[in-house]
Amino acid sequence: MSSTANVSVKTYKSYINGQWVSSSTGETFPVYDPSTEAVIAQVASASVADVDSAVKAARAAFDSGPWPQTTAQDRGRVLFKLAEKIRQNSAMLAELESRNCGKPIVESEFDMADVATCFEYYGGLANKVTGSVLPVPANALSFTLREPVGVAGQIIPWNFPLLMAAWKLAPAIAAGCCCILKPAEQTPLTALEFANWLEEAGLPPGVVNIINGPGEISGAALVAHPGVDKIAFTGSAAVGKIIVRSAADTLKRVTLELGGKSPNIFFADADWEAAVDGALFGVFINQGEVCSAGSRVLVEKKIYGKFVEAMTEKAKRIKLGPPLDRDTKMGPLVSKEQYDRVSSYLELGKKEAKTAIGGGRPKGFGKGFYVEPTIFYDVDNTARISREEIFGPVASVIPFENEADAIKIANDTPYGLAGAVWTRDIFKAFRLVKSMRAGIIWVNHMQPTYVEAPWGGYKQSGFGRELGPWGLEEYLETKQVFVNLDENPIGWY
Ligand code: NDP
Repeated sequence: MSSTANVSVKTYKSYINGQWVSSSTGETFPVYDPSTEAVIAQVASASVADVDSAVKAARAAFDSGPWPQTTAQDRGRVLFKLAEKIRQNSAMLAELESRNCGKPIVESEFDMADVATCFEYYGGLANKVTGSVLPVPANALSFTLREPVGVAGQIIPWNFPLLMAAWKLAPAIAAGCCCILKPAEQTPLTALEFANWLEEAGLPPGVVNIINGPGEISGAALVAHPGVDKIAFTGSAAVGKIIVRSAADTLKRVTLELGGKSPNIFFADADWEAAVDGALFGVFINQGEVCSAGSRVLVEKKIYGKFVEAMTEKAKRIKLGPPLDRDTKMGPLVSKEQYDRVSSYLELGKKEAKTAIGGGRPKGFGKGFYVEPTIFYDVDNTARISREEIFGPVASVIPFENEADAIKIANDTPYGLAGAVWTRDIFKAFRLVKSMRAGIIWVNHMQPTYVEAPWGGYKQSGFGRELGPWGLEEYLETKQVFVNLDENPIGWY
């Protein structure tokens, strides 16, 4: 196996059946550094024929290759080796991630630690998958076997590129599945570097394949392919709906991790400093390009004016800068397309609400897709800026009267990924926890995410769960086995 993948070399190929291959059409697409707008790589654009090759490789590895014969212990060892490789190369990967998607280097370093931890977690879980013995009313042994779902197509977004790849690949490998991963076309580089270690870690050819290219071509071909048993998708609700429709033709299993418009709720009795920090962190971390961003900041009327002022004062101190600068707290958005999208919401927000801070491009940046941290206030929950996912550093601050009002506003959204509540009153906190229709609720914090705890949404934020044992479940089928212990159990004829 040879690879052209290297930070300083600008051409990357697809990784199919343990080989680096060019696109069957010869086409490549450019990948940019969003802080300089310079092209930093060219990547092979997978055609429909390339997707077919990748699926055939995965199918062969699953149906007749050595992979189905591996033990759960062996699969666990592979995952531990991959984690070790990530840890050994985390500085290189963090730098590449920041250069490619624009996030501050300090955040990429956290991401790489989480990537390694994710592989370790599922390495440990691989040999803890068990079935159960069932108390059927018969002289029989009835039990369940847990088996891999088969070939999984995994489609991921650009905001946490290698972490999203880890959330999908690690449980799939632990379960014994074979995979075709399609990163977002904006951010394929760290996943391609990672592919360099797959063979060394002990994965037979075809078990993990990585293809790149536009979602409408390579992603759509993967979803429609009859050789794929399951699609695991993270991305926008709009594309999630396209995927469900397409996957219906072959009745694939589908799990969806979609977007959100998560409420971050502040009561007057919350710890003041922690709350103001929590409001900013909830929506500005990773430039706001976070599915669980607390983009609707709900504040009790008693503290509303003062809270908006305090948020604004602190937001002035958020340092925008190049992703590789260690002092940077916010880098550029990932792409020109995202910059234009967020900018159009900034113009809309100025019409729909009042602007406390931000609202445009920061001064002093000649190049790069930078956007100011922006706080809109006096936002009505019917406004588009409080209903639609912006996926940028834009907070919509909404006042509320009392607890019932807060719950009503919080749940008045088509999404249900996450939410947070800030209060010193534990009884109030638990009433909110139970009332909020979302898959993840934080109390007196926002955004902590751990591999041990499930991740996923209610309502239009998707279905299925990632992380923890729940993430592994999604890659397993349940087989029922009945072993008769009677000599003539039927005796009917
Ligand atoms: P998109 O939905 O546009 O894209 C996600 C992935 O789907 C990309 O790899 C994309 O490919 C691919 N894709 C696009 N069209 C199709 C298609 N027709 N068939 C198959 N695949 C397709 O989302 P973004 O990349 O813009 O990511 C941002 C979105 O992801 C936000 O809405 C965010 O909330 C959500 N998200 C959710 C998370 C969660 O855990 N719930 C986590 C992170 C993000 P390409 O880009 O190459 O065209």
